Amino acid sequence: MSIIVNQISKTYGDQKALDNVSFSIDKGEVVGFLGPNGAGKSTMMKILTTYLKASEGNGKVNDHDLNANPLEVQKSIGYLPEHNPLYLDMYVREYLEFNNSVYKTDKERIDEVIDLTGLRPECHKKINQLSKGYRQRVGLANALLHDPKVLILDEPTTGLDPNQLMDIRQLIKNVGKEKTILLSTHIMQEVEAICDRVIIINKGHIVADKSLKELKENQEQVIEVEFDYRVEEEALKNLSKVKEVKNIHDFLYEITFSVEKDMRSEVFDFAHDNGLKILKLNQKNASLEGLFQELTKE
Ligand code: ADP
Repeated sequence: MSIIVNQISKTYGDQKALDNVSFSIDKGEVVGFLGPNGAGKSTMMKILTTYLKASEGNGKVNDHDLNANPLEVQKSIGYLPEHNPLYLDMYVREYLEFNNSVYKTDKERIDEVIDLTGLRPECHKKINQLSKGYRQRVGLANALLHDPKVLILDEPTTGLDPNQLMDIRQLIKNVGKEKTILLSTHIMQEVEAICDRVIIINKGHIVADKSLKELKENQEQVIEVEFDYRVEEEALKNLSKVKEVKNIHDFLYEITFSVEKDMRSEVFDFAHDNGLKILKLNQKNASLEGLFQELTKE
């Protein structure tokens, strides 16, 4: 196991930010740590990097105990904090050289991480001349300098424009081929795009821990449809992947499909083939986003 979290709780004053959290992450997994703002994601990540100490419980990173061996933990982790703290006045290479001297790794590693993160065209610039996307690349390059086995990325794409976001996601995917990654986000699509597994946290509690494959297989979709005439429920049940049909009232039906694909066009075709008109068509819980909302609602 790359990461083991064992019954960790954290209180700030009288506020419990994490309540008895446990999970483990296998070597090579890319795991999305998903939750609304204030759920406890950053707190958990800071505890894993030993920046904060847990109030109760313990954990391990690469077999190093968080409480007993914080230095060894830090050596095996690359961390990109939420507010990527960069020295804006430094040149990209200068910044990486500065941090490299702290880690005491050899100089060739600087060119390796510059190439790995696609920084080569911008590496002669000062950090304050870079776009937010390139600044994140510098943060990632920095996190990779000591070639850690585990990467902890706190909201790595927040504040990026759509192009930068795609680039950084791709970069994380590439890096993830070689590393174990825990990345926090409040965007479900991000998890779908990058991760093998998702751990959902809400108010300091883990509310789901599933592989993406499992989530997609178990996905349900509800379509609310109103026709201009009565339909036999049995006829609607003959549509593919239907799990349940309910007649809500009059000509309004709720059809539950056990499939991820958008089934509205099938319902539309059904109406057309049966000479019916659709007065209303509404899709609910159509995506993993729906599941996230359901698990984290107030
Ligand atoms: P997330 O990263 O999911 O947005 P955080 O871990 O930052 O959540 O915060 C979890 C909870 O702990 C929030 O209610 C937040 O207000 C609180 N919190 C975080 N850091 C501190 C702190 N230094 N002092 C007091 N409360 C904090």
